[in-house]
Amino acid sequence: MSYKTLAIIKPDAVKNNLTGQIIAKITEAGFKIKAMKMVRLTKDSAGGFYEVHKARTFYNDLVEFMTSGPCVPIALEKENAVAEFRNLIGATDPADAADGTIRKLFAASKAENAVHGSDSDENAALEISHFFSRKELLENFGA
Ligand code: ADP
Ligand code: MG
Repeated sequence: MSYKTLAIIKPDAVKNNLTGQIIAKITEAGFKIKAMKMVRLTKDSAGGFYEVHKARTFYNDLVEFMTSGPCVPIALEKENAVAEFRNLIGATDPADAADGTIRKLFAASKAENAVHGSDSDENAALEISHFFSRKELLENFGA
């Protein structure tokens, strides 16, 4: 079981001024913020992050969306972080997401769904390193 996951507050939520409310939900659920920044992704960076979806019909739209404005990647720590965070954000499509989940509360559509959460411990580690340098992680996570 891993203790880390990567969240991203996506450009739709940042644009709608929901960053603070979403961070509050995350911390109220017991996650600790270990690293955080606001960035505007390049096409290369967003394309690389979502490489696994390259063959999907929505890939180009997804890269377009994720580069449409700033987003807020956050490295989080909690026991069983990956599964716990997926529970907190809810289903990919907010229409299917459970009441009280972040996507149910704040997302408008399956494509523009307010938040990202890693789907495995292995991907969490890769995704955290996509956004945070060794130095930033050493400083924030400790030895
Ligand atoms: P999740 O973010 O819940 O892990 P996926 O990994 O399947 O979902 O997809 C990555 C992201 O791609 C989604 O969060 C969403 O922004 C977008 N996406 C997924 N499926 C679709 C779809 N059918 N149409 C448009 N966008 C989609
Ligand atoms: Mg996914």
